[in-house]
Amino acid sequence: RKCLDQIRTTQHLNAYISVTEETALRQAAEAETRMRQGVPRGPLDGIPFAVKDNFCTEGIQTTCASRMLKDYTPPYSATVVQKLFDQGAVLMGKTNMDEFAMGSGSTDGAYGPVRNPWSYATFYREANGAEPDSDWVVTGGSSGGSAAAVASLTSFLALGSDTGGSTRNPGALCGVVALKPTYGLLSRHGLIPLMNSMDVPGILTRTVHDAAIVLGALQGLDRKDSTTIPPLSTQMELPEKSDVRNICVGIPKEYHAPGLQEDTLAEWRRVADMFDREGARVVQVSLPHTQYSIVCYHILCCVEVASNMARFDGLEYGHRSPVATSTEAMYASTRHEGFNDVVRGRILSGNYFLLKQNFEHYFTKAQKVRRMIADDFKRVFDSGVDVLLTPSTLADAARYCDFSQEDNRTRSAQEDVFTQPANMAGLPAVSVPTALSKRGLPIGLQLIGPAQQDKMLLTVAQWVE
Ligand code: GLN
Repeated sequence: RKCLDQIRTTQHLNAYISVTEETALRQAAEAETRMRQGVPRGPLDGIPFAVKDNFCTEGIQTTCASRMLKDYTPPYSATVVQKLFDQGAVLMGKTNMDEFAMGSGSTDGAYGPVRNPWSYATFYREANGAEPDSDWVVTGGSSGGSAAAVASLTSFLALGSDTGGSTRNPGALCGVVALKPTYGLLSRHGLIPLMNSMDVPGILTRTVHDAAIVLGALQGLDRKDSTTIPPLSTQMELPEKSDVRNICVGIPKEYHAPGLQEDTLAEWRRVADMFDREGARVVQVSLPHTQYSIVCYHILCCVEVASNMARFDGLEYGHRSPVATSTEAMYASTRHEGFNDVVRGRILSGNYFLLKQNFEHYFTKAQKVRRMIADDFKRVFDSGVDVLLTPSTLADAARYCDFSQEDNRTRSAQEDVFTQPANMAGLPAVSVPTALSKRGLPIGLQLIGPAQQDKMLLTVAQWVE
C-alpha cells in the first residue's frame, strides 16, 4: 500500500504506463498469508516489483510504449516475470520506455517522456535555479520508467531490457544499481524483441546485494529460449563484505571518449585510485575495436529490427488501420499509424542493409567487426584482468529541453559508447551509482566482467558501492 501511495505521489514522473493495483493487492495479501503461516517462498516473497512494458504479462496490457500494441493483452507471461510471480513478488505495474526499446532517453514513447526523480531534489533545484515544471532532466533509457520506479521508491526492483545499454544507462542517470547479466543467463522468452542476438533482461535495484538475489532467482535454462545457459550457481547471494585486494582492474584507454564530462572523468579516476589503495592491481588496457561498436550496432540492430517488426502487420494482433482498399494498403497504413518515426526509420535502414547488393558490405562486415570487438575483451580477460572499470555514461542526465532538441537518433547513438560493447560480446556488466555531479545529479560507474562471471562482478561492484 505504501508503494501504491508513492506511485500516486510521484505520478508526475510518468514512470508507469499501467499500475496493476488489483494484482498488487491480491498478491500482497497472498504473501501476507504465507508469512503469517510461516511458509514464505524466499527472499522475494511479498516484494513489490515493476516491469518494463516490453515484457509480456498474462492478462495485463503490454504496449512497448507504441500505438501498435496499445490494446494488446498477452495470453502468457515472460519467463522472468513468471519466475518473480512464482517467488511471491508483487507486481506494481508496467513501466514507461522508448517505443520498442529504441532510444536512450525514455522520451520517445507513445505515452510521453519519463521525468527523472532527481529533477525534484532540492539540491538539484537550488544548485541550478531550476523550475520544477520546465527544467526537469531525462531518466536515460530506454528502461527509464523502470529506473525511475526504483529511484522514486515505488518498487524495490524492476526489470528492464538491455540491448545496447538500456538498463545501465537509465540506472546510472537515476542513481540506482543496474545489471545486464551474461547473454543467455536470463530467458528472453516473452520479452518482445528488439535485437534477439543482444537482448538481455536487465535488473534494477537499490543495492548490489539486491541485484544478486534477483539474478539468483531469475537465472537458468528455459526450454522456451534456446539461447539460455544453465544457472551459474545455486548460491548467488553475496558475501557480507567484498575483498578486492587481489583482483586486477583494467582501465580501457579507448573509453576516454570525446564528450566525457569532467565530473564523470574525475569520479572514474577517484574509484580507480580507491582500488589501487585497497591493494588491487589497476592496469591500463586497450580495446582497439571499441570505436566501431556504435556503427556496427546500428547496422546489426536495424537488420534485426527489420525482420522482427514484420510480425506487426495488422492481422494477428495490435493496431489495424481502417484503410481497407487492398491488403497492401492496410499493411502500409497500419505500420505508418502504429510505429513512430524512430521505428520506421530503423525498419527502412535494416531493409536497405539487407538488400542483395548491400548485404556483404554492411551486414557481413558488421558481423565480422562484432567478433573483433568480442575478441578484444577476450584477450584482455585472458591476460589476467578480472574486471574492467569504465564510466556508464558520458555525462549526468540532460535537461529534457536540451535532450529533445538534438536529433534523437544521433544523440542515442553517442549515449551508448560505454555500454554497447558489452552487448556485442555478451558480457555481464553492472552500473553502480557512486557520486553526485556538480549539478547534483547521479553519476554511475560501470564494471564489465568475463562471460558467466556475474557473481564475481557483483562482488566487486558491492565493494565499489
Ligand atoms: N540506445 C540503443 C538503441 O536505441 C539501445 C537500446 C537498448 O538497449 N534497448 O537501440
